This record gives sequence, C-alpha cells and structure tokens, in this order.
Amino acid sequence: MKFIDRTPEELDAVFLTHEHSDHIGGVGPLVRKYSIPLYATNGTIQAGKKLGSVPVFNPIRAGETVQLNGLDIEPYTTSHDAQESVAYVIRCQNRKLGHATDMGLVTNEVREILKNSHVLLLESNHDVEMLDVGPYPWALKQRIKSNLGHLSNEACGELLTAIKHENLQRVILMHLSQTNNHPDIAHITALQALGSHTPVLSLADQAQPTELIEV
Ligand SMILES: [Zn+2]
Ligand SMILES: [Zn+2]
Repeated sequence: MKFIDRTPEELDAVFLTHEHSDHIGGVGPLVRKYSIPLYATNGTIQAGKKLGSVPVFNPIRAGETVQLNGLDIEPYTTSHDAQESVAYVIRCQNRKLGHATDMGLVTNEVREILKNSHVLLLESNHDVEMLDVGPYPWALKQRIKSNLGHLSNEACGELLTAIKHENLQRVILMHLSQTNNHPDIAHITALQALGSHTPVLSLADQAQPTELIEV
C-alpha cells in the first residue's frame, strides 16, 4: 500500500474470495488493527481458522450484491477446492470490473457474469507443459489441473476469446505461478486470444503491487 501511496486507514472493507493461505494470510491482523469490516462467505469464515477473531464480519453469498460506497459488488460461485469460494464482479454506474481467479473451470455462468466488463482481472496460473515437467509432486499437479484447481494460460485465453468485446479497456493477468509459468508465455497467450482487440494488457506480480487503475 505504501508503494502505491495508500494507507490501511483508507480501506473501507476487505472482501475475501476463499480461505487458502495465499488469500487470507495477514488479513486477521489487518482487520483487527484497523477495525476494517470483513466480507466473506460463511464457508470461508468457517474454513479460514487462521483468520482468528474478526471485529466486523459481514456474511456474503454468491448472487447477492453488496452495496458499498457507490459500488455494487456481486460475488459469484467459483469451481475451486475451497469451501464456498467466490470471485467478484464490481459495477459502478455504467462501468464494470470482472474478476476471475482461483477456479479450475470456466462455466457458462462465469462467462455470462464477466460479459461486458470494461476491466478484467483474470487468472493465468500456469503453462500446462511447464506444470507437467516441473518439480511439483504428482498429486499437486493433478489438483492444479483439476476442475477445482486453477486456470492455465490456455484456459485464460479461451475465456478472453469468449468474452472480449469492443469496450474492453484493460486486462490484468493474475495469480501467475512462479514455478509453473513464465510471464512471457502468459502474456503472449492472452495477446493471441485478444487478436485485433487491443485493451491495455498487463500482468500482476507476486512481489509488487499493481499500479492503481481507473475503471
Ligand atoms: Zn485457492
Ligand atoms: Zn490462490
């Protein structure tokens, strides 16, 4: 937050997608220290023991839009090996941001809810070949490739091909594996999927924050 000139005091809320440690690590201390309301499904809270006590917990459910400071935030169900996991679509006036990470399968419902987004945050987790020949144990490889795992570069590309449209302005590839992917492969796969469409395409990095963007 410091890198992008923001402070935790400015946070109005934290929304969780699911209980895996790469998503809830540090959230407990953060929301306790700054008394930030936490929004999550009951499943995430139940399974997210590491969160500890949460000062203000607002339970959410897939399909039920939360209104917050002029934003309509709609959680939707994801196919992932977590308890009641969700991703989000955020609308404000006529603008729409679609988010899709931590899912092993892109269903019709996912394509439908992400349609007409002006900004897309999409998972491009792994290159299937790199995963296959990489160092992960067999069971973990199977987990990642399963319908409850993560989207490959190719799956991300297929999703982009299905939902790209004239008013898509920006795409950010997210949740890239440091072991089983290379940013150049993710980037070129998405570029190929976009074809003649030319939204700004960038990649989120695990080690540094993504620049602030206007939707
Ligand atoms: Zn996960
Ligand atoms: Zn994750």
